Amino acid sequence: MSLLSSINRKEIIENLKSTTYDLVVVGGGITGAGIALDAASRGMSVALLEKNDFSSGTSSKSTKLIHGGLRYLKQFEIGLVREVGRERAIVHKLAPHLVLAEKMLLPLIKGGTFGPLGTSIGLFVYDFLAGVTGDDKRKMLNKKQTLEKEPLLEGQRDVLNGSGYYAEYRTDDARLTIENIKTAGKYGALCINYVQVDDLKYEDGRVAGVRCRNIETNEAFDVKAAYVVSAAGPWVDTLRKKDNSLKGKRLFLSKGVHIVVPHERFPIQQALYFDVTDGRMVFAIPRQRVTYIGTTDTPYEGDPDRIPIGQEDVDYLLDAANQMFPDVNLEMEDVESSWAGVRPLIYEESKSASEMSRKDEIFESGSGLISIAGGKLTGYRKMAERITSLLGQKLAKDHNRSLKPSTSEKIPLTGGPFQNSGEVEAYRKGIGRKLAKLGLDPFYADYLVYNYGKQSDEILNKLNAFSNEPETALARAEAWYAIHHELALRPMDFFNRRTGRLYFNLPSIRRVMGPVLEDFRSYFNWSDSRLKEETAAVQEEIDWVSKFEYSAKAGKAVSS
Ligand code: FAD
Repeated sequence: MSLLSSINRKEIIENLKSTTYDLVVVGGGITGAGIALDAASRGMSVALLEKNDFSSGTSSKSTKLIHGGLRYLKQFEIGLVREVGRERAIVHKLAPHLVLAEKMLLPLIKGGTFGPLGTSIGLFVYDFLAGVTGDDKRKMLNKKQTLEKEPLLEGQRDVLNGSGYYAEYRTDDARLTIENIKTAGKYGALCINYVQVDDLKYEDGRVAGVRCRNIETNEAFDVKAAYVVSAAGPWVDTLRKKDNSLKGKRLFLSKGVHIVVPHERFPIQQALYFDVTDGRMVFAIPRQRVTYIGTTDTPYEGDPDRIPIGQEDVDYLLDAANQMFPDVNLEMEDVESSWAGVRPLIYEESKSASEMSRKDEIFESGSGLISIAGGKLTGYRKMAERITSLLGQKLAKDHNRSLKPSTSEKIPLTGGPFQNSGEVEAYRKGIGRKLAKLGLDPFYADYLVYNYGKQSDEILNKLNAFSNEPETALARAEAWYAIHHELALRPMDFFNRRTGRLYFNLPSIRRVMGPVLEDFRSYFNWSDSRLKEETAAVQEEIDWVSKFEYSAKAGKAVSS
């Protein structure tokens, strides 16, 4: 029985009820997924429970960069920059189809945050800490070279002092999470979405499992475990409260918004990191048919499950782009999609959201609940290694058992293995040839390979089962794959987190949603009214990411 097929959900939940695990992980974002993989591959029996869909929290709403965080250098976070900087190359090797090299251009504008000397030294230190070598080392470009790299900067010609040009990586955070979940599954971890942990179970005052609820059926049940780790991101304090251990350090939530415009309206040739007049910096990143711009950084006190984007957030990002690229003149009508996430930061007295550290921290309560919060997408593997090593010490002390050392640095993620980017490129060309025969737009070669890697073949093989025109047939084959191999249960799991279409190809959802939802109905035996509800939910989500109002919708977000 496949533990990655939503069709087997009932049996998977029966398994959960009848097993006592070494470890229950609460939360299926990148942190929880990384922990499940590291712990399972080191010999622990693991269950991971996610209350919504995998990566539906912060891990589908980041800037989607695997980066060292240049700006943390300014805050002297040397240890953080060194660790995540080094992790970039490792995570790229684990999934070169999903973590792609992306050169970043930092324009130097007269009177801007960074001067040429400061930038040159800063980028040198950044590369040095991360161990960057060879051609990837930073280059300082003069005005002419900068305009060759990015002709759209022409509007700044009079004030342009050149640029810094340095190496980063780009990914899809939600796909990185699901591939970690799937890889953990290969080592026996049982990971399930739409199962919420409502409470902790104790034996002799020690945490000994969780009380949870199947969100689909509302059935409550217990899962027993020797150890419970909360990787609940912005919800970490909610569980600490249930454990009566919310003392000392607490989370501080900071909202970050991104907007998406068609690439033809903002045709940058490459990724940029540039100044905004309020002293912050934002990214503009080209991605196939779109360019996305982000992010904001404002304190947030609302519901982390439903983070509203206000018109003022959108205005801020449009203004930022228009100030740097006055000739582009982006307007509200250009905004095709958007997303907002909250950073679960560790609160620091008298610091603004932008200034607070992005370091991760582990809290251990008197009852034995272990919580991990803070950190970066980029550092997930190291965070996981630290948690499992802590569990290893406990297993040795409590149960006289030893764990294998972590090998996650060498475990390729599902979708591979690819030896390097060259191999990915050769595979992509092959997929391009197959798509041409099927009459599909060549755009889908990048889309398939950078999302699914070698799993693209299985999707294309399935495509022949559907007699629609090629684009719809492809979407139906992908939906089949997402449900049977990636635990997609609801249409938005598919349109958003398995494929990224909600953000990066929203018009395609409108074209294919009818047949795709009919497929969901037939796979899951939905009634007519359920199909109607789910169709309305997809429409509501499309409106949520593409329509904005002033403050009313943005709730309590306040500019820092
Ligand atoms: P989450 O992804 O939020 O996962 C926690 C999960 O726990 C959620 O899915 C939630 O539903 C689940 N959960 C909560 N309570 C329960 C419960 N009771 N029962 C079951 N499940 C539960 N980092 C980078 O490295 N690069 C970037 O470019 C970058 N950009 C960012 C931009 C923004 C705007 C933001 C907000 C963050 C960014 N980050 C970036 C940081 C990065 O996204 C986060 O560090 C990371 O995604 C956190 O992952 P997580 O798994 O800890 O939390």
